[in-house]
Formats: sequence, structure tokens, C-alpha cells
Amino acid sequence: MPDCEYTPTAYDGPSKESVTASRSQYLTPSLVTYYRDPLMIVDGHMQYLFDETGKRYLDGLAGIVSVSVGHCHPRVMDAVNKQNARLQHATTIYLHPNITTFAEKLASTLPDGLEVAYFTNSGSEANDLAILMARAYTKNFDVIALRNGYHGGTQGSMGLTSYSTWKYSVPHGFGVHHSIVPDRFRGQWGYDDTDAGKNYANDVLDVIERASSGSIAAFIAEPIQGVGGVIEMPPGYLQETYKYVRNAGGLCIADEVQTGFGRTGDSFWGFENHDVTPDIVTMAKGIGNGCPLGAVVTTKEIIQSLNESVHFNTFGGNPVSCAQGLATLEVLLDEDMQGNSKRLGTILFDGLHELQQKFSCIGDVRGRGLMVGIELIEDDDKTPATKLTEAVFENCREMGLLIGKGGYASNVLRIKPPMCVTEEDISFMLEVLGVAFSKATV
Ligand code: PMP
Repeated sequence: MPDCEYTPTAYDGPSKESVTASRSQYLTPSLVTYYRDPLMIVDGHMQYLFDETGKRYLDGLAGIVSVSVGHCHPRVMDAVNKQNARLQHATTIYLHPNITTFAEKLASTLPDGLEVAYFTNSGSEANDLAILMARAYTKNFDVIALRNGYHGGTQGSMGLTSYSTWKYSVPHGFGVHHSIVPDRFRGQWGYDDTDAGKNYANDVLDVIERASSGSIAAFIAEPIQGVGGVIEMPPGYLQETYKYVRNAGGLCIADEVQTGFGRTGDSFWGFENHDVTPDIVTMAKGIGNGCPLGAVVTTKEIIQSLNESVHFNTFGGNPVSCAQGLATLEVLLDEDMQGNSKRLGTILFDGLHELQQKFSCIGDVRGRGLMVGIELIEDDDKTPATKLTEAVFENCREMGLLIGKGGYASNVLRIKPPMCVTEEDISFMLEVLGVAFSKATV
């Protein structure tokens, strides 16, 4: 593991056993933990996490793609601590400079016209609001989302989500239709098919024509599906799809909750890799480097539709979360985190492609920048290697590397570290993964 000068404060809180016991008594059992022997994390510094014994881990998942510039980044902490000491909350019924300064800076990162923000506390809430805006603006009802996509767990966003594991048998998602996932590894049209994007987009047209009234409110998609196992939209797919959607009167929504803020390396926003401009962009996670913050950004004209009624959010745009969001954005831009994602992502992908030559269970290595997925298979039929994925995942943890899992069959390893990782961290990551695969495949 690369050197780290930071020493965590000695932990003197309740034992891991007592935290485990009180969690099972007082918290909902629907909260899952990673690992056979769940980890307790009590300290964080940049790309590293520390458990209660002081053991250090390289964080390859960033609090599920949320810690964009590093745990407790000093510049972010300084801004948020100063704001905490002065004023924590008053709501948007009073003026405050943090929300406006942040909104203005955020708009400067987006294409012209996408300039009005509504701040929320989470990604689910941002997606709910985006759908509300689209329906209020277009006066249409039907919405198209993609199978295998994850957009949140509120009743509205659960309807957009297309994953039985995250759905309950309750009424949700009225008017939402799910088009096929443009998955070039498993789908009908593969990586070598130059028409794959167009072919998958034809299914959106089919859904518009056969499943909706013909007029739709919106189409929502992640430029790279995150929870769904790092599946990037094929070239041309979003361009074609956006055309069909706009012809049917709908708005195009990009869910940038995971792909935004430079993570994909090639551009600041995931949609920019596809030469499209959405009408509404939703964001969360990386926007706040770990605080509860989300946003919907759209045009002046579209957001005007919310004026039909009063729409209020008690904590959205709170001075503390906006101080954290603004400082995070400044660090992202000043420290060229996008450039870091590109440079280190390239090294990581090169190393993973080498591992793929060595281990036949690695069916696919995909993603962009520091948003990486490794899909594990059992055989030429691409049977998902779920147990093997779990074994590699556990082995990595033992060696001090924390990563994530995803995909419907939980057979995709997900690597999405804080974007401040170094070349030494990437070398360590690749070395650990090599050993983890060797041990798991003997
Ligand atoms: N959209 C995407 C793409 C996500 O990955 C998530 C969370 N995993 C959400 C929306 C929901 O965000 P939150 O958990 O903050 O509600």
C-alpha cells in the first residue's frame, strides 16, 4: 500500500460488536452490509479509509461514488467548518450568498442554457423533481427509462428504476415504460456492431409508438449505468434516442448522479461523451463530496413550469451543503480531477486488460476514466460468475482494497475511487486485483 502521512485519531468509541448488536436491534434490517465480516469505518483521509483498529484501506468505491475529491479534503472541510460555525440553516425564504454562488459556478460547467438549479438532498429526490418538471412543462405523462437502470428509491424514482431487487410490490412508476438496455456485452448488438447505438435506439421509438400515447414527457438515462454494472450507452445511441424523444414532444434527462463532475475523464459531464445536450440534468453523490446534496439543472423556460404551484424543499440549498458543494466544485476544477480521472483511468484500464488476458473469467472490462466495471463470467455462454465475484471482492478487502459490486447478478466488480488517487494507488490496486483473481480461481 502506498505511504500515507496521515495518522487517524485513536478510536475510543463503542466496540464493533456492540455497534453490530445495536444496529440489528435499532436499525432497519433492509440495510445491507458489505463483506462476510462487516467493516466498521471510523476515519477517512483523501483516498484512504481506516477501521476502528487503525487499519488503512484504499477506497476504491468512494462511499458509492460520492466522495469525489477525497475524504475530508482540507479545502472542503475548511469551507464547511467555517459555514457551520456561522449559520447552519434558515431555508430559502431568506437570501443567502452560498446557494447563488454555487448555482452560478455549477451553471458555468454546463452547456449554455442549462443554467437554473433546484437543489435537493439526494439523487432520488432530484430525479422525482426532474420528472415533475418534464410533465408540468410538456403536459404529457408518459416517461421512458431504461431496463437495468437505477434512479432512486422514492416512490417516484423507484418507478424509474428497473431492477426487481430495489422494487416493492406497491403502486409506483405510473406512466413509466422501460426500453431495453443497450448492453453491448450481453445484448443483441455487440461492441463490433457499428450500428448498435441506432439499433438499440429503435427500441425507444418502438416504446413511444406502441407503449405510450405517442406523446411523451421525458426520457431518462444514465450516460453510463452505475448500479446496473457500468454499462455505457453505445456511440450514437443517445443522439438517435434524443431525436425520437423530442419528436414525440418529450424532454431528455441525463442522470449524472454517478457520471458527473469529471469522473469519466473525457469530459466533465457524462452526456458530453455522446455529443448530446439534455434538457434537464440531475446530479447528486459526487456534487457534495459526501454530504446530502443533489440538484436538478435545466433551462429558464422549463423550470418556469414549476411556478404553477409552490414547490418547496426545507433543506435543499442549505448554506452548509452549498458551502460543501461549492468548495468541492472549486477543488474539482482547480485540481483538475477530470484530468486525473483520465490519466489514471487509462493506466487502470491498461492493467485490467492485461489481467483479462490472464484470467478467462474476466468477460468484459468497461467504463471510462475512474468509473470502471469488470464483469465476471463462468463460461463461453457468459453465465454470471456471482460466487467468484464475491470471492475476488473478499480477497481484495483482506489485502486492503475496498471496491464495489453491481449488475443484476452481482457479477460486476465496480471501481470508482475518489478522483484524488495517485499512480501508486492504481499500481497497488492492480497488484491486489491480480492476487485476488489468482487466489479465487485456483
Ligand atoms: N441515480 C443514480 C444513477 C444513482 O446511482 C443513485 C444512487 N445509487 C441515485 C440516482 C439515487 O441517489 P440517492 O441514493 O442519493 O437518492
